[in-house]
Amino acid sequence: MDLIFASHNKHKLEEVQEMMGEDLVQLSSLEDIAYYDEIIEDGATLEENARIKSKTIYAKTGKDVFSDDTGLEVYTLDMQPGVITARFAGEEKDADANMALLLNLLKDKEDRRARFRTAIVLILDGEEYLFEGIVEGRIAFHKSGDMGFGYDPVFIPEGYDKSFAEMPMALKNTMSHRHRALQKMKQFLINKKDQH
Ligand code: IMP
Repeated sequence: MDLIFASHNKHKLEEVQEMMGEDLVQLSSLEDIAYYDEIIEDGATLEENARIKSKTIYAKTGKDVFSDDTGLEVYTLDMQPGVITARFAGEEKDADANMALLLNLLKDKEDRRARFRTAIVLILDGEEYLFEGIVEGRIAFHKSGDMGFGYDPVFIPEGYDKSFAEMPMALKNTMSHRHRALQKMKQFLINKKDQH
């Protein structure tokens, strides 16, 4: 099955391809289909943003496609930063500035519960399907670890006392929001394949 992953991130594409398996799907990136325009993600929710990306590419190609969008949701901040997670502290999308802002906002807060949430919108044979992956956890008081990316140094998943940035990728992958959402889509595609 050929599937477009509406992302410009080659590293992400390789990771997702490995996880989905070559026997199940062959992924193409936006570069592979020579799509270079910027897609404006101005949705009010993660689901809307993923839908905007998938629909844009489907309208252009008529081919099966999926997109993902991830946000960090902090309970005491009314589930912000959510859709603006990447640019929380500004359009530069600077991870250190984002974490500094977050730690400052939570300075005096006891409730540090937070979660990462990924929404995936798949368009298959013109039908739309939604998959969600969540990892619950809390925001640390300080950064720790140097693996991973984004907010990993300040996010401690439930049941652990280490941040994502202190975990090998293989361990993070067993519980991450993105992997949980992708696993659901993978299972869905396997079931579809079995029906044929
Ligand atoms: P995207 O939708 O995958 O581009 O994610 C949006 C933003 O969420 C990223 O720019 C990161 O700041 C943050 N983010 C997403 N996934 C992770 C993760 O696994 N660890 C830390 N931060 C993440």
